[in-house]
Amino acid sequence: MNTQIPIAVPNISGNEADYLMECVRTGFVSSVGPFVNRFEDLVAKATGAASAVATSSGTTGLHLALTALGVTFNDIVIIPSFTFIASANAVSHCGAQPWCLDIDAESWCLSPSKLRQTISEECIWDGERLLHRGSGRRIAAIMPVYTLGTPADMNAIAEVASLYRLPIIADAAAAIGATYQSRPLAELADLSVISFNGNKTLTAGGGGAVFGNNRSLLELVRHLSTTARSGEDYDHDMIGFNYRMTNLQAAVGCAQLERLDEFILAKREIRTRYDEAFASLSSVHKFPQPDWANSACWLSGFFLTKGDTKNIICSLREQGIPARSFWKPIHMQTPYNGILCGDMANTERTWKGVVVLPCSTNIPLEDQKRVILIVKALLT
Ligand SMILES: *Cc1c(COP(=O)(O)O)cnc(C)c1O
Repeated sequence: MNTQIPIAVPNISGNEADYLMECVRTGFVSSVGPFVNRFEDLVAKATGAASAVATSSGTTGLHLALTALGVTFNDIVIIPSFTFIASANAVSHCGAQPWCLDIDAESWCLSPSKLRQTISEECIWDGERLLHRGSGRRIAAIMPVYTLGTPADMNAIAEVASLYRLPIIADAAAAIGATYQSRPLAELADLSVISFNGNKTLTAGGGGAVFGNNRSLLELVRHLSTTARSGEDYDHDMIGFNYRMTNLQAAVGCAQLERLDEFILAKREIRTRYDEAFASLSSVHKFPQPDWANSACWLSGFFLTKGDTKNIICSLREQGIPARSFWKPIHMQTPYNGILCGDMANTERTWKGVVVLPCSTNIPLEDQKRVILIVKALLT
């Protein structure tokens, strides 16, 4: 009875094996091949983008997107503190510094009002550039994160960005399948990045994609991702990267993308089942579903409004439910100790209250019912 239910594992029961064999049979195992092109077409279609570039991971995709938009040494990039550490690391890999702001309580995404207020209080506009008053550094971009696959309030963020001519890079790592006010993801930012890591809704084993509607910008991303080769004879015209996805990864990614609708539906059903089951518990809230978003519902669970999630997570684990806390905020991470950051009330409260429950797309209904029974017994 106490067998472990996994928290979020890949669902690879489609054409993955066939497509992988095709790579081996045809010899296309590396970073050139028909699956890479097909993968990019499928990502562009799923996100409403004019163009998409396949990358070796979500993190390398973010690094490329930031670089293509001109983020460089000594710059500052605004991010929410409540994110996976890769968002901050990608900024650091550019030689820039993340500036961590708080999230909204109702979306768990970067707060547009905090963004606006912080910029107006702590920055100067010199007519061309936005400078951080304390350090004199340039603010080079804003990077909202679509927490749990839920887009941030992008109209409000875009309004602030346009005031100061700041580009927006969306960390949409887990958001494929989501929309914002019925608009597709590609319309919401200059460049957006998804991850195909093993714990995401769709996986390529590992991998990522950068997408958007500005074709020339995406061509620059592609160029940077493949060592900025400019000719046949080992000619390179920029300091590029080796960040391209391989045909093997893309083969798995294509098989997964064929099942996008099915997987998103499964994730949303899992979310609804937990939300309905826990609605009667006075000590918990559901994960946010702001009006503006149709979330991809990457992960599901509950938010504990008071008390300690540690004990609850411990008790659940003892009963075979591998419950987890979620992203430890960036400003509390060792490598970002002392980072530029604002008031973090919502971030810290959210981090302390989130419990993630098993929500793989292939979780059997009886397993989810068992999770629900155990959680309700514990919290009633
Ligand atoms: C998963 C994730 C990433 C990193 O993607 P990788 O493919 O693992 O490099 C970045 N940001 C967020 C918000 C993520 O959830």
